[in-house]
Amino acid sequence: CGIVGYTGRRVSSEVLLQGLRRLEYRGYDSAGIAIGNGDSLSVVKRPGKIKDLTEAVPDTLKGNYGIGHTRWATHGVVNEINAHPHTDVSGKIAICHNGIIENYMALKEMLISEGYSFVSETDSEVIAHLIAYNYQGDIAAAVQTSLPLLKGTYGIVCIHADEPGRIIGARNGSPLVIGVGEDEMFLASDTTAVLAYTKQAVYLEDGEIVLIDPEGFKIVDAANREIQKRIDTISWEL
Ligand code: GLU
Repeated sequence: CGIVGYTGRRVSSEVLLQGLRRLEYRGYDSAGIAIGNGDSLSVVKRPGKIKDLTEAVPDTLKGNYGIGHTRWATHGVVNEINAHPHTDVSGKIAICHNGIIENYMALKEMLISEGYSFVSETDSEVIAHLIAYNYQGDIAAAVQTSLPLLKGTYGIVCIHADEPGRIIGARNGSPLVIGVGEDEMFLASDTTAVLAYTKQAVYLEDGEIVLIDPEGFKIVDAANREIQKRIDTISWEL
């Protein structure tokens, strides 16, 4: 339902939780965040309100990049395990997904036959394992290789613990916007999630893939050709 990502100098959990609160109006049944901490990821998720999630996030979680999600369940009951972010078996890759992966059963069977084990009932979890399956040291390349195998709709954000500060975003039928800051960058499904921090925005189109890090953003198409896009200045206030 709602997606937010942050990379910069701030305590990312605070930025993500504030972004998720801005997305609450869209409706949701659970929420979660994954934060990069040194060379590992910490994931906290909860059914219920952002308030419940906020109370579950320890003060020690000070990593400065991460992703967050508000879920509106389509595949799998509402519980902690089915909430996003979802991780791969190593726990190094985390993804949040808006939309529906229509061929998730076939992908799940393929990945299980390759030795991957699943923990949730969601369609979304296949994305984490598929990216792990295609990962060869470059998370942007792994996402790029994985996307053509997904049928359905998606807005996705993805991080890898071995590539700190980087967030990959991709969309097909589900909105995604880059918030451009100074030495910090944002991704969100809805501009309202980042307006408290920046009014500079770049709207992605279907088929575009973006890599953000604190210094900037790079957008490519499905054939990995770089795309130059205009930065819009948002004129409205929250
Ligand atoms: N299909 C996914 C799920 O049920 C994502 C739903 C959403 O867009 O929030 O977990």
